[in-house]
Amino acid sequence: TPVLRARDLHYAYPDGTVALSGIDLDVAAGERVAVTGPNGSGKSTLLQVLGGLVEPSGGHVEYFGETTTAETVRERLGVVLQDPDDSLFNTTVRADIEYGPAQLGVPREEADRRVRVLADALDLDGLLDKPPHRLSGGEKKRAALACVLSFEPCVLLLDEPTSAVDAPRTADVLDILDRRHRAGTTLVTVTPDVELIPRVADRVVVVGPAGELVADGPVADVLTD
Ligand code: ADP
Ligand code: ADP
Repeated sequence: TPVLRARDLHYAYPDGTVALSGIDLDVAAGERVAVTGPNGSGKSTLLQVLGGLVEPSGGHVEYFGETTTAETVRERLGVVLQDPDDSLFNTTVRADIEYGPAQLGVPREEADRRVRVLADALDLDGLLDKPPHRLSGGEKKRAALACVLSFEPCVLLLDEPTSAVDAPRTADVLDILDRRHRAGTTLVTVTPDVELIPRVADRVVVVGPAGELVADGPVADVLTD
């Protein structure tokens, strides 16, 4: 059974802008999928609908073969939105990273271990005690990623996880995503950056200007077309 199964997704914003028109998408456990397409094609909207943060105007999403709401699978589904400010609510970066594990009842020692590992992997050590609003754009993006990785969801939905992140830290982000993938995590990554696709995905879904699916297949096949 697919971990995500989207059928005939439609979405229009209240002002009438059509963002998704008839998207079908199955994602299997352990897959790495990139979602790409031009600016404004509906990629971010699609990620928010897949993550259960936006109710589609038409169609539906099933999770783990269950016809259920995203709320009931929340702890298995990690979503990093394009705007890191949407993931950072607490008074310090550390408190933000600890929030998810605390909600899930992860023991203190294990939560501390996760903070240490993530801070080390994403170069956040000097930032843990800072208020998130003092961080730069790239620092916020890495902090937001840590907030989601800390609760260890088995499906990660990521909207441009390396935007605003510098080259050495981009390599760190890609490393940690690779490690999670090798440990079995399913990755769905939105990126308009063709260069990034082979580094985050084996399969790519291309969305067209009207929010329609224009291609879906192995990265090597789709990118040569
Ligand atoms: P992408 O991520 O591919 O750049 P988005 O999903 O952000 O595309 O946007 C899809 C379309 O919906 C675009 O035309 C965008 O201008 C529009 N859009 C996004 N957010 C809103 C909103 N809150 N209200 C109205 N239109 C929106
Ligand atoms: P691999 O043999 O694939 O490199 P690791 O031993 O690096 O696996 O990772 C094993 C587990 O520990 C995985 O679940 C991975 O997510 C987690 N892990 C290891 N290193 C890190 C890290 N630096 N940051 C976050 N998680 C990590």
